[in-house]
Amino acid sequence: MKLVIASNNKHKIDEIKFILSGYFGEIVSMEEAGCNDDIEETGDTFEENAHIKAEYICSKLGCAALADDSGLEVFALDNEPGVYSARYAGVHGDDNANNDKLLLEMQDISEKHRGAQFVSSIVLCRPGMEPISSKGTCQGRILYERRGTGGFGYDPLFYMEDIEKTMAELTSEEKNSISHRKRALEGIKEQLDRER
Ligand code: IMP
Repeated sequence: MKLVIASNNKHKIDEIKFILSGYFGEIVSMEEAGCNDDIEETGDTFEENAHIKAEYICSKLGCAALADDSGLEVFALDNEPGVYSARYAGVHGDDNANNDKLLLEMQDISEKHRGAQFVSSIVLCRPGMEPISSKGTCQGRILYERRGTGGFGYDPLFYMEDIEKTMAELTSEEKNSISHRKRALEGIKEQLDRER
C-alpha cells in the first residue's frame, strides 16, 4: 500500500521513511503525491490536528496517509505554547521570534519551575480502517539563553538533564534517535507489528 506523508518537510519525511519503509510499498510526500493543499490546523490538541491532516489526505487521495503534529509544552505556562508553537510570536515559523517570546514569558520563572516537554502526535489513516495514533514526548527544561546551533524551533532553549545538552547541541542522528517524533513513530510501528 502507498503511504502519503502529510508534510513536505524533507527531514520529517526521511525520518518516517527510515522507520516505516518495510511496512508500505511506497512512501511519498504530499507534493510528490500531487497534493499542495494548505490544510488548516483547527484542532485544540496535537492529536486532533494530526487527525485532521491524515484524514483529509486519506479521503482525498484514497490511500494511506500519515500526519504528525508537534510542539513544546511548558508546564509553568499552562502547557503553552502547545498547538500554537509554530506561531507563538505571531508569524508562523519565525523560530527566532518564538524563542525570544518564550524567554520573555519565562524571565521571572526560577530554574526548578522551568520544566517542559516536546510532544509529537502521529495519526495514520487508511481507507476503510480505523485510524491509529501514537504520542511521543521528550522531557527537558527551558534555559535562560540559547545554546547550540543545530536543529530548529525551540531546540536551542531545550536542555536535557540526562545528557547535559540542548537539542540544538545534538547532531541530527543523535536528535532523531531520542526525539518525541521518533518515539511517536515507534508507537505506530508497534501497532502495525501487532496487525501482522
Ligand atoms: P510542526 O508540527 O512541525 O508544524 O511543528 C510545530 C512547531 O513546534 C515548530 O514550528 C516548532 O516551533 C515546534 N517544534 C516541533 N518539533 C520541534 C523540535 O523537534 N524541536 C524544536 N521545536 C519543535
